[in-house]
Amino acid sequence: MTSTIRLKEFYSKLPLGVNLLAVSKGHSASAIRDLASQGHHQFGESKLQEALPKINSLRDLKDITWHFIGKIQTNKVRSIVKEFDVIHSIDSLKLAERISRIASEEYKSPLLLAQVKFRPDPNKSGFLKNELLEAWEKLKYLPNVKFVGLMTITPIELALNERKIVFCECRKLANQLGLKDCSMGMSGDWQEALAAGSTILRIGSALFGDRHK
Ligand SMILES: *Cc1c(COP(=O)(O)O)cnc(C)c1O
Repeated sequence: MTSTIRLKEFYSKLPLGVNLLAVSKGHSASAIRDLASQGHHQFGESKLQEALPKINSLRDLKDITWHFIGKIQTNKVRSIVKEFDVIHSIDSLKLAERISRIASEEYKSPLLLAQVKFRPDPNKSGFLKNELLEAWEKLKYLPNVKFVGLMTITPIELALNERKIVFCECRKLANQLGLKDCSMGMSGDWQEALAAGSTILRIGSALFGDRHK
């Protein structure tokens, strides 16, 4: 099955107000171009070095929105701010402050999502819920950026029903903070995320097939 057929299948299942983010890491610029030619415009990348050449070779496609979804190193912030419209992986107040300052210098105004860790997970970064609540009064007033939602990734060892519980906690916290978006759900658990109120499904392999390394 090709990615364009899989794309149509996803669109047919998405309720109104839920967005599909095509996670194109591990796939070529031409794979992105194929989906863009079907009218899909939202693409997510998690590694800057891998994303930059693809972004550069797709400059002719004016309506692509690039989402950064990976761990952010301090020295990469400027490039990320210059190239990405939405950043899902804000994991500290310090990082958000840096993005805010650099966004001003670069005349950009990225949309941000705070990554939250609802369960212990040594492989993932993110705010703990209490850390986010503590930082929120500062985060929400940072200039040149706008927080639109929360992002979460569930630990791989969690069963699907437990993942759904985590997704519900994420939705509840977003509502509490007055945030519309929840970026949650990947190829293996998007149905649970959708049921819990996800507004952005981050789908890689279920759309593009297995990743090339
Ligand atoms: C790779 C990745 C995805 C997509 O994963 P699939 O299981 O291939 O759908 C989603 N979110 C993040 C943060 C990722 O790094």
